[in-house]
Amino acid sequence: VFHHDIVPLAPEDPLFGLMAAYKKDDFDNKVDLGIGAYRDNNAQPWVLPVVKKAEELLRKDPNLNHEYLPIAGLADFTMAAQKLILGADSPAIKDKRVVSLQTISGTGAVHLGGLFLAHFYPRNPKQLYLSSPTWANHNQIFSNVKLPIKTYPYFSPHTKGLDFDGMLSTIEQAPEGSIILLHACAHNPTGVDPTRDQWKEIAKVIRAKNHFPFFDCAYQGFASGDLGNDAWAVRYFVSEGFELCIAQSFAKNFGLYAERTGVFHFVTGAGPDAQSTIARIGSQLTLLQRSEISNPPAYGARIASLVLNDPDLFKEWQANLRTMAGRIIDMRKALRSKLEQLNGKEGSWKHITDQIGMFSFTGLTEKQVVKVKDDAHVYMTKNGRISMAGLNTGNIDYTAKAIDTVMR
Ligand code: PLP
Repeated sequence: VFHHDIVPLAPEDPLFGLMAAYKKDDFDNKVDLGIGAYRDNNAQPWVLPVVKKAEELLRKDPNLNHEYLPIAGLADFTMAAQKLILGADSPAIKDKRVVSLQTISGTGAVHLGGLFLAHFYPRNPKQLYLSSPTWANHNQIFSNVKLPIKTYPYFSPHTKGLDFDGMLSTIEQAPEGSIILLHACAHNPTGVDPTRDQWKEIAKVIRAKNHFPFFDCAYQGFASGDLGNDAWAVRYFVSEGFELCIAQSFAKNFGLYAERTGVFHFVTGAGPDAQSTIARIGSQLTLLQRSEISNPPAYGARIASLVLNDPDLFKEWQANLRTMAGRIIDMRKALRSKLEQLNGKEGSWKHITDQIGMFSFTGLTEKQVVKVKDDAHVYMTKNGRISMAGLNTGNIDYTAKAIDTVMR
């Protein structure tokens, strides 16, 4: 009964398809600029030294068992995660205006937030705005919970930077009370973030239209190497008294990709009812979580909790973050300078060093992306996005040459 008109064959996930093609390629100098995971200078996955330490501590703990976590997850972890994103002295934490549930990494946090808003967002019709472009999974996750999706412009192909006017005017013209999804830092896929002044303008428009900000934060500390810097936008909105929610991933900044470690936070505005509002929202989130995953996985949360709650381990983690962010920033500088050497046009690749985080939007067309894969075995997504972590001192000359060649 499940005929193809009922269950059509779904397209392969483009990113995981790219990964499979790369794996199959037996060319010696192939380069993987597709997947969004950190690689060290030898193109190897990196277990953060502080994570290794925490794993040792866990192994030695005689009291550990495999009992279920509570529905909302490991409280020591989610409380530390609140402080990490909002700041330890956040008024929202002090006023107990935050509720936090541990989720299946950032994806699960985006999903839980989407599900909650689909059930309870007090506007009808509901309208969600995503940046164009955005992380491809946003579309799937929010479609899955049937939130109607529109987009706001984000990237200007001319400047290869932010289309600030387009973004602002679309958010301004959006129906009152729309949900606006914002990338907290290191926008995926473009690597383009608003400046602090631009964030303030965005906040003004969101406030004027009574929109609801939904922050997706997948790269705190990983983007600039500084946790506070990468959380600035979220903290600014909270300091302005916004009611908002946050999806927080620990995949990249802890290298805990497969451990599915994340948190969903809901922050309500200050006011006499704030605590009872948070209690009601928390109770419904708990009910939704129970039906979806019952309770979250423990391993990654235990590791992150150990590190976040121990001052020495925390310091070491910050150093590990600077190692990752620093290597990526070095690769940005090197790629820009090599490309500009090759084409002789100073400033022509400035966007590579202006952009931040794991990804860069190169400006390569789909045709050029195919050509650089076919001719030089350099793999990137068809929108011309490259994962900076795929570059290293061993392949950067080769990659720059290959990119320069297809752009001629
Ligand atoms: N949100 C954005 C913008 C991302 O780039 C990612 C990962 O690539 C995620 C969320 C979620 O990742 P994970 O579910 O692995 O934490």
